[in-house]
Amino acid sequence: MKKHNFSAGPCILPQEVFEKSAQAVLNFNDSGLSILEISHRSKDFVAVMDEARALALELLGLENKGYQALFLQGGASMEFLRVPNNLMKIGGKAAYLDTGTWASGAIKEAKNFGETQIVASSKSENYNHIPKNFLIPEDANYFHCTSNNTIFGTQMKSFPETKIPVVCDMSSDIFSRQLDFSKFDLIYAGAQKNMGPAGVTLVVLKEEILGKTERNIPSILDYQKHISAESMYNTPPVFAVYTSLLTMKWLKNLGGISAIEQINIAKAKLLYDEIDRNPLFEGTAKTEDRSNMNATFLLKDNSHTEIFDKMWKEAGISGLPGHRSVGGYRASMYNALPLESIQVLVDVMQELRFKI
Ligand SMILES: *Cc1c(COP(=O)(O)O)cnc(C)c1O
Repeated sequence: MKKHNFSAGPCILPQEVFEKSAQAVLNFNDSGLSILEISHRSKDFVAVMDEARALALELLGLENKGYQALFLQGGASMEFLRVPNNLMKIGGKAAYLDTGTWASGAIKEAKNFGETQIVASSKSENYNHIPKNFLIPEDANYFHCTSNNTIFGTQMKSFPETKIPVVCDMSSDIFSRQLDFSKFDLIYAGAQKNMGPAGVTLVVLKEEILGKTERNIPSILDYQKHISAESMYNTPPVFAVYTSLLTMKWLKNLGGISAIEQINIAKAKLLYDEIDRNPLFEGTAKTEDRSNMNATFLLKDNSHTEIFDKMWKEAGISGLPGHRSVGGYRASMYNALPLESIQVLVDVMQELRFKI
């Protein structure tokens, strides 16, 4: 039986995507060949890459606006260093918002390239909220933020206005909610949180921000080289790109980002209402900054842990423990997780009150 999969990543994908990608491993496009054994330069795979790049821009509302979409390797972690390598001038500086483990990982890499100015941080309160009302220095080469903090369960509900390029790590909430994506100059997202299997990262960037650093950029790190090669500078991870395309098509058929956003809001509300109503639990993120993708919560009394863990496992739930650095529980409610799975979790939380 299919589990109710609350894993933070790699995560649940739509069932039809699992089925279609499995089929393509056996026989891709009725070609008599597996997607895994055809040349990435073949007509069939070039069409996959082209469609995936175009559909990413279409879903984000960024076609014909000077943006390029790339499917690259190295995970979101690679973008932590590709971004400063491509955007930070020699002797320049970059501005970073520190909202969690991944944001601070990006800061650590940027420090190798120049000065990083941390405009605000919620570290001293274990990243339980998103800092607000900070100033962004306009002499920085770019501003970097993390839209959704996968580990701590916080999400930026608004983004600061600034004249400098805005770079955003959207790994764990890409394609989950409607934003004016044209306010961002570079967006990146590791696929395995909401888009596809591990092994590929979507990078969407405004081409005009490139070429301003005079830095000597190693080829594999150079966004311009990847754009010129139409995201085929070297062998792309064909299976991950194809599966990401299937997920994007699924999303388009569902009505796109605005349609999934409504579903995601309903899912998050169902769970947060229970966390707030149930006297045995408490949320760890500040209410106004709660993530609609990853809900973090605790049992108020640790002595209930054993029975609660047994109950949700018996209900067919998987992937609920919090990140090892935080503990407690984390319910990841990515696009493909059905509302019914959240109802199962809520039912278990309610039942716990009668079992203790
Ligand atoms: C998971 C995650 C990362 C790291 O992604 P990798 O693909 O493992 O490098 C970075 N940022 C955020 C917000 C994440 O959720």
